[in-house]
Amino acid sequence: MDDIAGAQVIVVGGGYAGVLAANRLSGYLLGRARVMMVAPGPYLTDRIRLHEVAARGSDARRPYADLLAAGVQHVDARAVGLDRSGNRLAIDRGRGMEWLHYDALVLALGSQIAPAIPSSAPHALALRDVQSAQQLAAALKKLERGQRVIVVGGGLTSIELASEIADAHPRLSVELLAADFVPDLAGPARDALRAALQRAGVQLREGVAVQALSERGVQLRDGSECEASISVLAAGFRAAPLDAAFDLPTRGDGRIEVDAELRVQGSANVFVAGDLAAPPSAAIGSGRDTTRMACATAMPLGAHAADQIVKLLAGRALSPYHFGYMIRCISIGRQSGVVVSVDSDDRPTGRVINGRLAALIKELICRLVIGMLRLERLRAGSYVWPRARRRSALRLPA
Ligand SMILES: Cc1cc2nc3c(=O)[nH]c(=O)nc-3n(C[C@H](O)[C@H](O)[C@H](O)COP(=O)(O)OP(=O)(O)OC[C@H]3O[C@@H](n4cnc5c(N)ncnc54)[C@H](O)[C@@H]3O)c2cc1C
Repeated sequence: MDDIAGAQVIVVGGGYAGVLAANRLSGYLLGRARVMMVAPGPYLTDRIRLHEVAARGSDARRPYADLLAAGVQHVDARAVGLDRSGNRLAIDRGRGMEWLHYDALVLALGSQIAPAIPSSAPHALALRDVQSAQQLAAALKKLERGQRVIVVGGGLTSIELASEIADAHPRLSVELLAADFVPDLAGPARDALRAALQRAGVQLREGVAVQALSERGVQLRDGSECEASISVLAAGFRAAPLDAAFDLPTRGDGRIEVDAELRVQGSANVFVAGDLAAPPSAAIGSGRDTTRMACATAMPLGAHAADQIVKLLAGRALSPYHFGYMIRCISIGRQSGVVVSVDSDDRPTGRVINGRLAALIKELICRLVIGMLRLERLRAGSYVWPRARRRSALRLPA
């Protein structure tokens, strides 16, 4: 497709991957192709701050009006289906289904907190979105001294949530129940996280298998019960559910397997980015079967998917995705944190930064995330990542 005038590119999803891809495409295609971003509502949810919202009642909505390049047309709708052979995307703006034609498509529908454990507790899925997180914050405010809050999960999100609640509400008794505590961070990193939780006043209980969350608290697999005024689930993510009409092959965790060029198998012009994408392990080293769902991986995937489309439209060869991990940053309330150094395959190197410096690094990275989306709006190709190639390679023929 050498003549790109009039081509239409659609990005589905308005999270970190989607906004980055849309801004990058808009800048590179310089008005020669139409760039649309389909996402419901006027805001990006700054999900990496949702534990702050849940503990403190702050806000994490960032208006698309402040993030998107002028050349990106935001379509306030949900994508509800895909006709790959006809190059058509089905959307619903709240008044029934309509079809949009695309020449190239990026699917970046993201992920959700996994409902991994049955739950009837009112705030179990508080990290689902801003509204649910704010409802938890309001409920926490009403608790009295000594009342117990239980967070269930053994990964980084559960650590951030439990410590944020303890930091914001020191009068409460906060417990973190983990069947397996950060299993992929064994060694000094795990020790540092245990110590940081202790300093934050969070009681960590490891090896505790949870059966269900209820209004009364948490039921354990051994039949016993832990009473709690509020219990919250933070036990991993699963990909955003796709309507059956997408007819795409998904893995057990809901993610779409893509090839090394980030394309859906059998589709020359459909790319997947962000948490929805499961690129082959070759892209990320041998340590994992695919990328870890994270903002840190969603943004490079979004940027690379955009670069691929620019190449596709220019009739140039696509390039395989490469990514190397560097650090993992965990906030422990507002004044402390743990930064874990990892190798390019995401394995801990043994080096750890603790305390205030780690909190500052984490805060800086959170600000940089939104800052990079804004910078990409001003100058396409600004965003680079470990092992990435620079924008000069992507100039289109005049
Ligand atoms: C509390 C918390 C803390 C976190 N901390 C970190 C951290 O410190 N570091 C880190 O790397 N990661 C962190 N993460 C994970 C990170 O937030 C996700 O990995 C990241 O948001 C994935 O980005 P994404 O763009 O793929 O998807 P999302 O941010 O999930 O965005 C998906 C977008 O798709 C839209 N969408 C969904 N369905 C449809 C549809 N049918 N049609 C149209 N649009 C649709 C949504 O509305 C949204 O705009 C954290 C997550 C949470 C919840």
